[in-house]
Amino acid sequence: EPVVQVADVHKEYELGGTVTALDGVSLELPAGSYTAVMGPSGSGKSTLLNLVGALDTPTAGDVTVDGRAIADLSETERARLRGTQVGFIFQTFNLMTRLRAVENVTLPLVFAEHGCESRRERARDLLTEVGLGDRLDHLPRELSGGQRQRVAIARALATDPRLILADEPTGNVDTETGDEIMSLLRETNERGNTILLVTHERHIATRADRIVHMTDGTIERVEEA
Ligand code: ADP
Ligand code: ADP
Repeated sequence: EPVVQVADVHKEYELGGTVTALDGVSLELPAGSYTAVMGPSGSGKSTLLNLVGALDTPTAGDVTVDGRAIADLSETERARLRGTQVGFIFQTFNLMTRLRAVENVTLPLVFAEHGCESRRERARDLLTEVGLGDRLDHLPRELSGGQRQRVAIARALATDPRLILADEPTGNVDTETGDEIMSLLRETNERGNTILLVTHERHIATRADRIVHMTDGTIERVEEA
């Protein structure tokens, strides 16, 4: 069974008029797959990512994550799904500015069944894995953009989610740092994580195994790497 199944999904936003963000999208993410989504601004990429991450529900059609249709879940159940099965990585890092690197990474574990010391130990291990073993007690503002994104990746991996969703993860870092971030994502994919990545940069998208091209809320074509 695939980790994610998107079946003929439509998403409309009511905002004075109706905006159709997704207009019949079907996509499967098999376990361990690595998919990039490309397309012009406004083509529905973020909307698709938000639905797959159970941040929102479709207007029509089904989004199934780990065998469960997200539209059938309560707000609380969707929050639990996000907290245990999904790791989010954002262009803007979204770190807590007053918390140290190690504290940012322990945050998602507060709701998991871990003791305080084992949370810190896991956070230290993850930060060491992403090359920040010597930056554990730094605040986000004391870190470079690339280091911040590496903290965000460690945070996304903290609960050992099956699915990683990355929205323009290299959008705020230089090319070289972007390559390092992409190597880290590749490593997590090789360890079995399923990845869905949104990017408008072709050289980033080609690091995935499959590129989904979107236009006007539909999938125009799928390119296998
Ligand atoms: P992309 O990520 O490819 O730039 P989006 O998924 O963000 O595209 O947006 C698709 C369309 O849906 C756009 O026309 C956008 O303006 C609209 N849209 C996205 N989010 C909202 C929202 N929360 N409310 C109203 N319209 C939205
Ligand atoms: P944009 O689409 O403008 O690039 P972001 O990438 O920052 O916006 O956020 C994408 C979506 O994820 C938004 O709907 C936002 O509310 C949501 N979001 C942002 N941060 C988090 C978070 N830490 N946990 C869960 N959802 C988040």
